[in-house]
Amino acid sequence: MTDQPSPPLTLSHRAHLQTALEMAREAVAAGSSPVGAVLVNEKDEVVAKGRNRVGEDQTAERVGGASVAHAEMDVFFALGKLKNPGKLTLYSSLEPCLMCGGASSLLGVGRVVWATDDAWGGSGRLIKWADHPAMQSTEVMACPYPDLEAEGARLFAPEAKRAFPDEGWELWRERYPAETAEVEESGEKQGGEDGKD
Ligand SMILES: [Zn+2]
Repeated sequence: MTDQPSPPLTLSHRAHLQTALEMAREAVAAGSSPVGAVLVNEKDEVVAKGRNRVGEDQTAERVGGASVAHAEMDVFFALGKLKNPGKLTLYSSLEPCLMCGGASSLLGVGRVVWATDDAWGGSGRLIKWADHPAMQSTEVMACPYPDLEAEGARLFAPEAKRAFPDEGWELWRERYPAETAEVEESGEKQGGEDGKD
């Protein structure tokens, strides 16, 4: 465990985050929330892809139909017991929530990377992963690419407005003023959408 030198391989962070964003778009098309996730091994190979499925039925293969059907949980449920979790990197289009961040750490996933912060539902500021005694082995990389961060914010902002309480949406507006302004404008044009779940 300690004597094996790890090869100086750099994972394709950008490409994997783009795949997570693609999965987020697929989730929206299927009637779920815009979040996608990808698990990658130390050889830069995709082990599993997942996406939010809260708006879909649960099946034998996939978690669904419940508020635990987040993109990261979709990946974990699909894989079962992880092999060499410490060598895996989880990419998510959005900062994982407490459940998914906690699960990643509990499972011993080596690294978690996300495209966009979630100022309301994200776990980063609550857990402060680096300070958490049970989460020392999980490296966290937040928002490494500004353009993908903006893309993820634009993708999730309508959901943040729809699903979060007013104070949550307010935090999103502070964190991503430009992307949330687009939602406010389009909401006005369409007469606004309501229906919080
Ligand atoms: Zn989650």
